[in-house]
Amino acid sequence: MKSNQRRAAGRRQTQAQDVFTAGLRAINVEAAGSLDVLIVDAADAPRLFLEALSGSRVVCALLRVARRLARKVASAKDERPLCLICPAELHAMFGVRIGIAVPHRADPTVGVAFVLCPACAAAGDVDYRVLTGLRGIWPDARRLVVTHPEGGRG
Ligand SMILES: [Zn+2]
Repeated sequence: MKSNQRRAAGRRQTQAQDVFTAGLRAINVEAAGSLDVLIVDAADAPRLFLEALSGSRVVCALLRVARRLARKVASAKDERPLCLICPAELHAMFGVRIGIAVPHRADPTVGVAFVLCPACAAAGDVDYRVLTGLRGIWPDARRLVVTHPEGGRG
């Protein structure tokens, strides 16, 4: 690689890191420490379409992520999407699970999308494995069980 190409690649990487850092900062501000995580696969599609038609902002965002991810996987030449859990690169969409972490609020405006490769998607205890993967972004992340959906968190 020529030095001009190396510098350009370095600038692109720095810009991508800046965008990621700014997005993460926005998520952290909006989330105030509490995120909802939604993980879906192809079998969830009918329910998701109905929820999207009902106006679920999070589900609409998830469907946009799925569309972009499918395009990226189909057109990727050298940079392929990576699994959240393992170092696998995605070469096809069959068998993957897609997830999104958004601030726990009625109208989240930002979020982080991720994908699980077919092997990780089929492995047991996906929730725990996703939590472990998300700790790469939020080291102190832990799972909360909602015991009182009408108002409290536990
Ligand atoms: Zn994986």
